Amino acid sequence: MLPFQSIQEAESSLGRNLKFAENLWFKYSANKSDYFLYCHNTIFLLVFYTLLPLPYVIAELLRSNKIERFKIQPKVNNSFKDMFNCYKNVMTIFILVVDTLAPSLEGSETFSIGIRTGLPLPSGTEMLLQMLVYVLIEDYSNYWLHRLLHCKWGYEKIHRVHHEYTAPIGFAAPYAHWAEVLILGFASFLGPMMVPGHMITFWLWMVLRQLEAIETHSGYDFPWSITKFIPFYGGAEYHDYHHFVGKQSHSNFASVFTYCDYIYGTNKGYRYRKSVFGKVPLKHPVHFLVRLNYIINLQYKIAASVGVHIKLNAVQIEKQYHQCV
Ligand SMILES: [Zn+2]
Ligand SMILES: [Zn+2]
Repeated sequence: MLPFQSIQEAESSLGRNLKFAENLWFKYSANKSDYFLYCHNTIFLLVFYTLLPLPYVIAELLRSNKIERFKIQPKVNNSFKDMFNCYKNVMTIFILVVDTLAPSLEGSETFSIGIRTGLPLPSGTEMLLQMLVYVLIEDYSNYWLHRLLHCKWGYEKIHRVHHEYTAPIGFAAPYAHWAEVLILGFASFLGPMMVPGHMITFWLWMVLRQLEAIETHSGYDFPWSITKFIPFYGGAEYHDYHHFVGKQSHSNFASVFTYCDYIYGTNKGYRYRKSVFGKVPLKHPVHFLVRLNYIINLQYKIAASVGVHIKLNAVQIEKQYHQCV
């Protein structure tokens, strides 16, 4: 809630006229509590996770040839019923878990984690720099939390739910055990907790996080995606590989960027695949698969003959992967 009774009072406190955006913010937030403003997050989650995956749902139902070539695992079909069940599950978790979290973050004037709601509004540069910090903190912590969830106990008790989708869909981005929503949600809150900013920055950060998660789990790898221009960005194909390999996956843990997997050596299987198949054209699927099987078998035999077990595992996984796609 703003500590000003009127726009004039706010302007005299700031010593200048309010800008257009500040005027709008004053009119919208002046009489709303910080708790209520925070709860907008729940609405954003419900609205964005409902609307943004819809183009992918339509693509999945139509299975048009024009779009089909961008599907990462074209042999997998998801029915409307499957996708709707996933959606219902995700919405239930959001309402139960996110609404439970909200009261713990409530403060009287400002949030206990330091998020401010008042005036002046942050500049574009401030928002951009803060979100850059948030994404780096979230990416690094998410990498290790995700990796931890792949230990035997973590996977069996919690993370296996998220991996029920070996070929993910947009709705499946937050499809997870409630404990995982809390654990990985914590990684998203870590940045705003360490470098608290304005509520608007916080909202934008949460929306950006949703956009990224939906695209990464979309099951489609579109070459025109704007994320293709972001250095070290993983993307849909990168995370799809992690889902396909599933339980035994020790590869591609990264949330957004690929540098952690590179530094800690957890993308060897994926890199191996890219080095072997990366330059093989995908225009003619039948010829591609014939050549692919030949190369896989050759690599498999070479690796087995010299007893290179790490490479052998990578080859086995690749073989399994490409037999399915
Ligand atoms: Zn995983
Ligand atoms: Zn995932």
